[in-house]
Amino acid sequence: NETIQQCSGCGVKLQTDKPAELGYLPQQALERTPVICQRCFRIKNYNEAMSVTMNNDDFLRMLGRIGQEDAVVIHIVDLFDFDGSLISGLQRFVGNNPVLLVVNKIDLLPKSTNWNRLTNWVQRQAKEHGIRIVDVLLVSAKRNLGFERLLDQVGNYRGNRDVYVVGATNVGKSTLINRLINDYSDMERELTTSRYPGTTLDMVNIPLDDGKHIVDTPGIVYTHRLTELVAREDLGTLLPDKELKPKVYQLNDGQTLFFGAFARMDFVEGERQSFTCYVSNAMPIHRTKLDRADELYEQHAGDMLAPPTKERLADIPAWTKHQLRINRGSATDVFVSGLGWIRCNGKEGAIINIHVPKGVKVITRPALI
Ligand code: GDP
Repeated sequence: NETIQQCSGCGVKLQTDKPAELGYLPQQALERTPVICQRCFRIKNYNEAMSVTMNNDDFLRMLGRIGQEDAVVIHIVDLFDFDGSLISGLQRFVGNNPVLLVVNKIDLLPKSTNWNRLTNWVQRQAKEHGIRIVDVLLVSAKRNLGFERLLDQVGNYRGNRDVYVVGATNVGKSTLINRLINDYSDMERELTTSRYPGTTLDMVNIPLDDGKHIVDTPGIVYTHRLTELVAREDLGTLLPDKELKPKVYQLNDGQTLFFGAFARMDFVEGERQSFTCYVSNAMPIHRTKLDRADELYEQHAGDMLAPPTKERLADIPAWTKHQLRINRGSATDVFVSGLGWIRCNGKEGAIINIHVPKGVKVITRPALI
């Protein structure tokens, strides 16, 4: 049983214990011939992409291989977790291949959003992370927004090349690929005529009409995202599904907001001002006095301050404190990867403490909206 079998679709090493990870297949599927992983099986039989994950080193190795191909790269990021899902080292690995930055989940922002301004914001942020992009595309994979332009631009840049889709987990990569399969490739015909086995290890090739492929790559797991640290059951609270209804709090210094028991914001110093919370509508926010906050957490984390429940809380790293200074000037977001962001209007300036599970990325950035 020690011989390592490979998927005859994508070439990945097969395994039967971790469904969300690369190379998984159910035990009984080992009997099938040819043996293919569940991800290839789904694409082949249902035209359906599914998310699988891979660790950082393997991910970087995989990106390096893309750099050696002549290809177009679609980098998909989650607008709700922009700074948490951007692959900041991307440029080093993709070589001279053009990168289209696809910003998914725009359905979460109000329809009145100034999309040009948002596009400029995205462009500036990408530049700051050293990513050269040929275009920014705002889409919602789930609600089918922005796909005409996406398909146009993929067509413009692709020429006669493969399209690699890369992203972190939960950004909507499979949802996007499933749309591309629908809109783009004549799967019915292709699957019967294309020679199945892919040639690149652990990437799934989805045939296009011209003999080229959309290549689905595994999602990278970034543990600096709160969404990667919590139990699956809690994702429903963290990941917004509908248009965000920002909650505005007028706070005096010495007040605290709890976001379930996932995070806490202390307004330590500054004039009375408003804080606008862009978090999932399902996230309970609890306001209290800063000097009562520690005690409240001690007594009520996991019940009044929930989710997560007490049991699940025990599996999340303990909190650490980040002190942030919001300078007077323009509006600033306090961004907490996977939770969302808190917009400070910047008129007053403030000192803020954010408490989050150790490892979660906390930054300030120019306000998104
Ligand atoms: P993957 O892990 O990147 O392949 O992501 P999935 O396609 O599995 O999607 C992750 C989560 O994001 C799921 O809960 C999707 O329903 C959700 N999602 C995907 N696209 C969108 C979108 O355009 N808007 C919203 N609100 N949610 C989306």
